[in-house]
Amino acid sequence: KKVLIVFGTRPEAIKMAPLVKEFEKYPVDFDTRVCVTAQHREMLDQVLRFFDINPQYDLDLMKPGQDLYGLTAAIITELKPVLENFKPDYVFVHGDTTTTMASSIAGFYSGAKVCHIEAGLRTHNKYAPFPEEINRQITGRVTDYHFAPTNASRENLLKENIDTKTIIVTGNTVIDALLQSVEKVKQEPSDLVKQLDNDLSGADLLLVTGHRRENHGDGFIRICEALKTIALERPSVQIVYPVHLNPKVLEPVNRILGDIKNIKLIEPLAYHDFIWMMDRAKIIITDSGGVQEEAPSLGKPVLVMRETTERPEAVEAGTVILVGTDTDKIIQETFALLDDDTHFKEMSSRHNPYGDGKACGRIVEFMKELELVKNFK
Ligand code: UDP
Repeated sequence: KKVLIVFGTRPEAIKMAPLVKEFEKYPVDFDTRVCVTAQHREMLDQVLRFFDINPQYDLDLMKPGQDLYGLTAAIITELKPVLENFKPDYVFVHGDTTTTMASSIAGFYSGAKVCHIEAGLRTHNKYAPFPEEINRQITGRVTDYHFAPTNASRENLLKENIDTKTIIVTGNTVIDALLQSVEKVKQEPSDLVKQLDNDLSGADLLLVTGHRRENHGDGFIRICEALKTIALERPSVQIVYPVHLNPKVLEPVNRILGDIKNIKLIEPLAYHDFIWMMDRAKIIITDSGGVQEEAPSLGKPVLVMRETTERPEAVEAGTVILVGTDTDKIIQETFALLDDDTHFKEMSSRHNPYGDGKACGRIVEFMKELELVKNFK
C-alpha cells in the first residue's frame, strides 16, 4: 500500500518524524513517501536533518509575506501532480496548520483515504486559535481515520458524529519523538547549548517561546511587559527566549526586551538544542502546543500564555497553568513557582497525560490490521 505523509511546519515535522521512521520499518507492507510543503523553511529543515529524513517531494512553498489565501491555494495546486504521480492509498496529515487543512482536501480530491494524526483537538471557538481551530475542524470532516492523542480528543470527535470505528486513541507522537531523542541530546550537547549553559552560570532558567497569531499585537506587548518585570524584579533569574521568525513576533520582542541584561533573545533553536534547554529550564513559559505536551515528560512546570486551550488534559493533570496574556497573571504565577517550592515540586512531578512514546507503533499496527481486514473480505 502506498502511504504519502505530508507536512510543512516545524511542529508537524517533529511529530511526524517518528511516524515516517515507523512506517519505514515495514517496506513490504508500505511504500512510504514524504512530501513537505515547506510552509516553514529553515525551522523545518533543521528537524529533517536531525531525524535524517529526505523527503521525496519538496513543494518549497514558503514565500516572503505569504498570506493564508496564497498558501492554501498553492498547497492544493502543487500537491495535485504529486498525488497524480504517486497515487497514494493513504494520505497522512498532522494537526491544524494550513498545510494540514489544504493537504487533507487535496488528498480527499485524489480519492486517497485521509488519515489525521493528532485528531480531535478542539477549543470550539472558531477564532481561537486562528486559523488552527478551523483547520482542524475542516480536516476532521474529510478524514477517514482519526488518530486521537487522548480520550478527551476522541470524545470531541464522537460529539461531531464521527464513526467510533474510525477513531483510534494512540497518545501523542510528540512523546515518541522526545523519548527517542532525549538521551542522545543529553549525552551530546551541541557547542551552542554548552555556551548558553556556561553563560547562565547556574542561574534559574526561564525558557520562553511564543508565536501564536491570536497573541499578535497587544497580546505580545502584554507578554513582553510581564517578562520585562520578571527580569527586572528577579535579577538572579535568567530568561532565554528563542524568538520565532515571524516579524509580528520579532518586532515587539526586540523592541521591549532587547536591552535587558538577564533576558537573552536568541534565534529559534534546533529541536535537539531546544530539548536540551527544556531539560535545563526551571520553568517554561509558552503559547506553544507541542511544548506543553513535551515539558511534563521532562518534569517541567509550564505557564501557558493562552486564553483558551485545546489541551484541557494538561490543565486537569496540573502540568500546566493557563495565564493568558494578562501581564499581572504571568508575573504572579511565575513568582509563585519561583518562591513556593512545594507548589513547584507538585507541578513538576505530575503525570504526563499525552502519552508513553508508543503512539507511532499503535498507528502503524492499526494500518496493518486495516489492510488484513480489507484483504479478508
Ligand atoms: N521547538 C524547537 N525550537 C524552538 C522552539 C520550539 O525545536 O526554538 C520545538 C518544540 O520542542 C516543539 C515544537 O517545536 O516540539 C513546538 O513548535 P511550535 O511552538 O512552533 O508550534 P505548536 O506546537 O504550538 O504548534
